Amino acid sequence: MISFSKYTDGLAPVIIQDAATQQVLMLGFMNEEALEKTKQEGKVTFFSRSKQRLWTKGETSSNFLLVKEILPDCDNDTLLIKADPQGPTCHTGTTSCFGTANDTFSLQQLEKVIRDRKNNPSEKSYTASLFAKGINKIAQKVGEEAVEVVIEAKDDNPGLFLGEAADLLFHYLVLLQAKGFELKDVLGVLEARHQQ
Ligand code: AMP
Ligand code: ZN
Ligand code: ZN
Ligand code: ZN
Repeated sequence: MISFSKYTDGLAPVIIQDAATQQVLMLGFMNEEALEKTKQEGKVTFFSRSKQRLWTKGETSSNFLLVKEILPDCDNDTLLIKADPQGPTCHTGTTSCFGTANDTFSLQQLEKVIRDRKNNPSEKSYTASLFAKGINKIAQKVGEEAVEVVIEAKDDNPGLFLGEAADLLFHYLVLLQAKGFELKDVLGVLEARHQQ
């Protein structure tokens, strides 16, 4: 059962969205002080209705929500905050408080997994093994996959073509990470060209 809480005096609802993946992460409430603190510190602080105090998301878990953008709605009674989550937003361990049903696969989400393999390498991970080999090897791999795409483009096997196209995209994302860049950096360049 959804609880229709009435403890919203002096509070405004705040939707938290992942700035990179656009996934809706959670909804919380802020009073004026919470919003002030959020703006000052660049980390999302709510007013917790259950705790009846200011609550900085991540204060014990370190899964902070770093503020990217604060957008009021049409009649200024709700906020949308685009944030960079430092870990799973839900205390149950899921990325979003709305569970995995709200997970949408995106390049940005894949990029997050790749970044995680780079930062927390495990022996079993193919991606981690790529980072271990270094930038030159990864760049070479991108070249090989590009050639494979070219070869399959000449053929008429959709399965093989899509497989190589996926390989290329994946290794391209790995190369970006290895170079210290992200998809958004490339999108920024494309966007600037688009506006010309
Ligand atoms: P945190 O703010 O991540 O350090 O978590 C501190 C406590 O806040 C947790 O033990 C939960 O009780 C609560 N909490 C954390 N994240 C959420 C969330 N997304 N929605 C509701 N309660 C949360
Ligand atoms: Zn409104
Ligand atoms: Zn939750
Ligand atoms: Zn391939």
